[in-house]
Amino acid sequence: MKIISINAGSSSLKFSLINMENENVIANGVFERIGIDGHYKIKFEGKTYEEDTELKNHSDAVNILLEKLINLKIVKSLDEIEGVGHRVVQGKDVFDKSVIVDDDVLQKLESIKHFAPLHNPANMLGIKAFMKALPNVPNTVVFDTAFHQTMDKETYIYPVPYEWYEKYGIRKYGAHGTSHRYITETVSDILNTKNFKLISCHIGNGASITAVKDGKCVDTSMGFTPLAGVMMGTRSGDIDPSILPPVMEAENKTIDDIINDLNKHSGILGMSGISSDMRDLTEAYNKNDERAILTMNKYARRITDYIAQYYVLLKGTDIIVFTAGIGENSFLTRKLVCDNLKCLGVEIDEEKNKNCHGKELISTPNSKIKIYVIPTDEELMIAKDTLNLIKKK
Ligand code: AMP
Repeated sequence: MKIISINAGSSSLKFSLINMENENVIANGVFERIGIDGHYKIKFEGKTYEEDTELKNHSDAVNILLEKLINLKIVKSLDEIEGVGHRVVQGKDVFDKSVIVDDDVLQKLESIKHFAPLHNPANMLGIKAFMKALPNVPNTVVFDTAFHQTMDKETYIYPVPYEWYEKYGIRKYGAHGTSHRYITETVSDILNTKNFKLISCHIGNGASITAVKDGKCVDTSMGFTPLAGVMMGTRSGDIDPSILPPVMEAENKTIDDIINDLNKHSGILGMSGISSDMRDLTEAYNKNDERAILTMNKYARRITDYIAQYYVLLKGTDIIVFTAGIGENSFLTRKLVCDNLKCLGVEIDEEKNKNCHGKELISTPNSKIKIYVIPTDEELMIAKDTLNLIKKK
């Protein structure tokens, strides 16, 4: 059985075709510059096929993708594709799990799209393009927010006028839920139990920390939008909102300009003035660049702050997992964070931490909390949800 996982953005569409019998990726790639000019890149059996081609809209991208799957002999017939799973960024409190797309789901998606205006409408374009191109194949939607719907009200409510929540749905929704759920399920397999206290650190260009008890999310660091929580590649994370008016006035900026600064020009990039990329920051840190050292330490501190907060919330922690681009690859970040956590009895094996590739335990047998690195796989999670929903149909 073959399933396609789709992540559609406003001008791009990423795909992974997955063989669900062995959970291997058969082919993957990206269609970019949709609505501008157009380019695609498809990876299959160690080769990369890429070309500039006109992509007027998402339907063009889907049609060319399906054509290429046949022409490159990735599949013999499109009948081999039994389901298409779509990542959707915001499901609000309307969706607490993945679902098969039908008219009711489309209507609900339409009603909440303004909660993620840059993402949800683009995700919907992907869904509609596949519904048109493969009308007999079920589509599913898998939400970044769904895993966090188990947070209780005391956790998701903000200490602002209560009417903002009632009238405008202002509350914490979180993000990266599909990744945190993948980590939770993997930890459950590793520990062979569903009863554990986990702190899942998804640290990539975007970053969020999630506290999980017995398989359920109890708190997460991102908020109403992904701008909240720890500092990230280009996002500030939590700040005092009162810093905005003086900067807006001095630089003659609108609220949109300044929110854009907090999303795109802050975090590692803004603080270091070097780059948003952890590899560049690490290089400068190793050359003793003063601002790189400040940024790196601040970055580790913000992650530590959330881990400490969740350690208390969970009343202890069995396991901390590092995942995503930085969590999986930056041993320096893991070292600095774990050094900050020594007072909780955390002890990592320096060699294992330095040489870790793939899924690995990096703490010592003496460590009071197990520290793991686990590569995340959101595409597989989307495909698995799709398979499960199709089976139940
Ligand atoms: P993601 O958003 O999950 O793709 O993660 C992107 C981040 O991972 C960027 O900051 C990269 O610099 C970082 N990253 C990827 N590979 C490495 C590496 N080998 N060492 C340090 N950071 C890395």
